[in-house]
Amino acid sequence: MSENVIIIGAGCAGYTAAIYTARANLTPLVITGSQIGGQLTTTTEVENFPGFPEGIMGPDLMFRMQEQAEKFGTRFAYEDVISVIKDESTGLFTIKTSSQEYQSKTVIVATGASARYPDIEGEEKLIGHGLTACATCDGAFYRDVPVAVVGGGDSACEEAAFLTRFASKVYLIHRRDTLRASRIMAERTLANEKITPVWNSVISGYITDDKGEVDGAILTDTRTGATSELPLKCVFMAIGHTPNSSFLGDLVDRDSAGYIMRTPGLMATKTPGLFAAGDVADPHYRQAISSAGMGCSAAIEAERYIMGH
Ligand code: NAP
Repeated sequence: MSENVIIIGAGCAGYTAAIYTARANLTPLVITGSQIGGQLTTTTEVENFPGFPEGIMGPDLMFRMQEQAEKFGTRFAYEDVISVIKDESTGLFTIKTSSQEYQSKTVIVATGASARYPDIEGEEKLIGHGLTACATCDGAFYRDVPVAVVGGGDSACEEAAFLTRFASKVYLIHRRDTLRASRIMAERTLANEKITPVWNSVISGYITDDKGEVDGAILTDTRTGATSELPLKCVFMAIGHTPNSSFLGDLVDRDSAGYIMRTPGLMATKTPGLFAAGDVADPHYRQAISSAGMGCSAAIEAERYIMGH
């Protein structure tokens, strides 16, 4: 028996699509992937999600969304999707995970995006040993020692502010001399006495201790090429994200950064019955609320597609 709707991904877009399709009696199945709750589970306080004037912790918000989706009959499969194919003769999609295969009339892809690393030599083996992309997950391990955040966007500012609770000092290493972050975040960051900006700099190497843990970073000045050493115990990367769409093969077109391309004004992709919502298909806004809105739109489009077929 085939499903009506399979939603791949359990972040803001996926949960919202689930709430809408469940309320439309389509009994959606959400295949969560390994990061249940999506990127907001790695943030702290969310101040800009409407309806929470006092703010809400990211993980709490996602837990509430899941609860709301479950209340209307959404089912969850806690697996990773490996591939999706469409049988043109039946119009059905086959969604393959490591343990089984599902069939569905429609698919909503809401797989979000994963943290990027800049591809510095030796980086791979340092992840988890003083190199990470999640301050909420790892910040508390670095008490009373200097740490650094790399990046100049909202994420970098947010991570830096969070880390001031633990670290003795937080360097904010940015490749330019102005922050990309929103004005309120940038002003707060630069006013914070525990945060020291390191302008016009990138990390070009790491210094490790005898246990193989990060003990410092080698900086290169982006204007002069001069190098220097910065003693620190952990580097938190906040240089953006890569959309998670590789498992879809040729079912979708992507832009140069890998974001799924949609029919203008819609969540539909080039494959009828396959919709994309949230950060995996949004190179412009990438906000919790805009992802939720895209999840809602994708759900309504999926419902109309099923009715029309
Ligand atoms: P982002 O806005 O794309 O910023 C990435 C930062 O990393 C930029 O400053 C960029 O430098 C730098 N960068 C990129 N590649 C680099 C490299 N190879 N080496 C060194 N630096 C590099 O990403 P984000 O901060 O994750 O934010 C993504 C979206 O989520 C944004 O729309 C943001 O507004 C939103 N967001 C919102 C909130 C909030 O409202 N509370 C919190 C977090 C994120 P350049 O500036 O030179 O390009």
